[in-house]
Amino acid sequence: MASLYEVVDRQISLDIGQRGSQSLYAAARASEPLCKSAAEGLVDALDSGQQVVLTTGFPVGPTASPETDGPLGTAVLAETLAALGADTRIVVDERTRPVVASLLAVLDGSSQLQTLPADGDGTALLEPEPAALIAVETPGRTADGSYRNMTGEDISAQVRPRDAPFEQAATDGILTVGIGDGGNEIGMGSISEAVADHIKHGETIGAVTPVDELVVAGVSNWGAYGVVCGLSLATGQQLLHTGETERRLLAAAVEAGAVDGVTGEPTESVDGIPAEVHAHVVDILRYYTTQHSDS
Ligand code: MG
Ligand code: MG
Repeated sequence: MASLYEVVDRQISLDIGQRGSQSLYAAARASEPLCKSAAEGLVDALDSGQQVVLTTGFPVGPTASPETDGPLGTAVLAETLAALGADTRIVVDERTRPVVASLLAVLDGSSQLQTLPADGDGTALLEPEPAALIAVETPGRTADGSYRNMTGEDISAQVRPRDAPFEQAATDGILTVGIGDGGNEIGMGSISEAVADHIKHGETIGAVTPVDELVVAGVSNWGAYGVVCGLSLATGQQLLHTGETERRLLAAAVEAGAVDGVTGEPTESVDGIPAEVHAHVVDILRYYTTQHSDS
């Protein structure tokens, strides 16, 4: 029988948007399910220090609006880690900040929210130095040094780079986690060949920065929820939110200026998939983890 971690991995890696994420999932998978490996890495990191830093925010369209994929997963994962005793800090650009602030309000969250300085190479993420550094749906530098969206467009002017702290963290022995769905996010450097082979414009858009724990999902928010499920299973506590809360989070994100990353529209959808589907995915994930949790 498949473990519940395995079932969670299958759920989060469903490629509903048919963008090739299943091939990336297969490349990222070593032995353990991705949600198990990432969750266990985070539990270990929390044993060595309580600070965890998370970042997110992919600019969409000429206005560089933040997309709905990323902030929800980041806020839910941050609050989960806070519930497990971590001191969590979310660092984002000024366009993404109001979106994350609105999500933390819905979650009654305790995470600190910090704006990434406009100058610099993102080293604010390491000041002070955390035990773990997590990127959810965060633009990753490509081989030619540019940043690209899924259509191959150069969006470097809109991106505040955050690759350097992930490289530095690797040198310093800080756990790095990357969560993505398209191949152009921080962490996908761990599976560059698969991105080039299986993703449209993969050779151009593929991100080069690797991470210790890469979680590939059909939608990046689901990848973060998968890690929350992994943490639920690892600790025997139900840590995931509900489908009803997912709908409130998505409504709050759009109200605060987030848009769908696929359509560019300010609708309650993520990657072109409507809110009710995301709510169902969350409820299904919650059902799996309830079977082996206390509450
Ligand atoms: Mg993506
Ligand atoms: Mg996405």
